[in-house]
Amino acid sequence: MKRAKSAELFEEAKTLFPGGVNSPVRAFKSVSGPPLFIKKGNGCIITDEDDNDFIDFCCSWGPLILGHNNDRIRESITETIAHGTSFGTPTKLGNKIGRLIIENHRYLDKIRFVSSGTEAVMSAIRLARGYTGRDKVVKFEGCYHGHVDSLLVKAGSGLATFGVSTSAGIPKSLIEDTYVLGLNDLAGLEALLEEKSHEISCIIIEPIPANNGLLIQDNNFLAWVRQLCDRFDVLLIFDEVISGFRVGFEGAAGYYHIQPDIITFGKIIGGGMPVGAYGGNHEIMSHIAPDGDVYQAGTLSANPVAISAGIAAIEQLLEDGFYEKLEKKTNYFLDQIRTHISDHDLPVRIQSIGSIFWFAFAKDRIATSNEIDADSMQYFRAMHHELLQRGVYLGPSGYEVGFVSAAHDHKHLDIAAGHINEVLSQIF
Ligand SMILES: *Cc1c(COP(=O)(O)O)cnc(C)c1O
Repeated sequence: MKRAKSAELFEEAKTLFPGGVNSPVRAFKSVSGPPLFIKKGNGCIITDEDDNDFIDFCCSWGPLILGHNNDRIRESITETIAHGTSFGTPTKLGNKIGRLIIENHRYLDKIRFVSSGTEAVMSAIRLARGYTGRDKVVKFEGCYHGHVDSLLVKAGSGLATFGVSTSAGIPKSLIEDTYVLGLNDLAGLEALLEEKSHEISCIIIEPIPANNGLLIQDNNFLAWVRQLCDRFDVLLIFDEVISGFRVGFEGAAGYYHIQPDIITFGKIIGGGMPVGAYGGNHEIMSHIAPDGDVYQAGTLSANPVAISAGIAAIEQLLEDGFYEKLEKKTNYFLDQIRTHISDHDLPVRIQSIGSIFWFAFAKDRIATSNEIDADSMQYFRAMHHELLQRGVYLGPSGYEVGFVSAAHDHKHLDIAAGHINEVLSQIF
C-alpha cells in the first residue's frame, strides 16, 4: 500500500502545527507510520490522499453514527448555508433542535448549546460550582472530560489525596480542587463525601467510560453514586459527550435509568459539525446567565449551519428501531470476531456496549484503568499496522474505542471481520 502523499503532507504539516497535528492523538504516536491524510469519506469508507480506501471504525472519534457524508445531513447543511453562516442572534433552527432533544429525552428540561465537548464540560463544572457555592470536584481515574484545566488530573499516590496533573500548565490551586477516585471504588467515594462533602460541588463521571479503553461499569455502581450524591447534597454530572445519543437516544442516563443533575453532550449532537451542549432541570439551568449569575457565552454557539447538521442527524436517530438495528448490526460484526477468538483461544476479548467496542488484550473483563496492561499495547500496535495494510481503519491508539455506524453494511462488516480475524491469528 502506497502512503507517499500522506507521508509528504505530514512532513509539511510538521512545519506548520505542533507535532504536525491539531489534536494530539491524530499524530499516530502510539502506532507506526505517518498519519493518514483523509480527503473524503462516504458511508463507512474513508479515502486517503494516496487513494487508498479504508473501512472506518474511528468515525471521526464518535460523531459519525450515521457514517460519512450522510445525505440528509449534507442537504440540511447546504440548504442552511445558502442563507448565510452566522448571525449571532437566536434562530428558528436553534428552537427546533432544542425541542427535538428535550421532547425526546426524559432526563432534560433545558439545554444550552456550545461548540465542543470540552466547552460543555467546562461550563457544566462552573454551573455546579455556582449552584452549590462549593469549589471542589470529584472525578474518576480512567474518565476523560476534554481538556478542562481542573480535570486534567489523575490519581496521585495514597487514598483520595490530591491528584497530579496530566498536563503542564495546570495551576496547583486547580489540581487541589479535584479529587480523583478509582472507578467502582464505592467505599472510597463514601469516605471522601463523609469527610469533605461540604466542599464538593459535583461528581463528574463518564457513565460509560470510553476514552481509556471501554470500562463498562455495573449499574449498581452508578446507582450508588447517584444515591451518595443525594445523601450528601452534591450534584451528579454525567459526561455523555461520547455516550450521548450513542447507546440510545437518552444515552447512558436512559440506558441505566439514572437521572443526573447535569448532562454534557458533544460528538453525535452536531452530526459531524462542532457542537456541544449541557442540560439539566429548569431549576439548575435557571442559574445560567442571563437568567442566573453563572456566566457562560459563545460567539458561535448554536451556529445555524452546525445546528442544521445536528437536526438532520437527530431526526434520523429518532426513527423507529434505529438503535436496535445498529446494535444488532454491531453484534453481527463482533460475533464473528468473538467466535474466532474463542475457537482459537486467543488472549483477546472484545468489550462492547451498543455500537461501541474495544479490543482488550486480556482474558478477563477490564472495568478500571489500572487493570489495563500497558505492555499489551504492543499487540494493538501490530494489529493497527496490519489492518491498515488490509484497508481497515481503527483509531490510532489501543486506548481508543471503535464505533459501528448505521452506514456499515453487512458486506463491509464481513470483510473487516475477516481481516481482523486473520490479523489476530497472525499476531498470536
Ligand atoms: C470527546 C470527549 C470530550 C471532549 O470533547 P471535545 O469535543 O473533543 O472537546 C469530553 N468528554 C468525553 C466523555 C469525550 O468523549
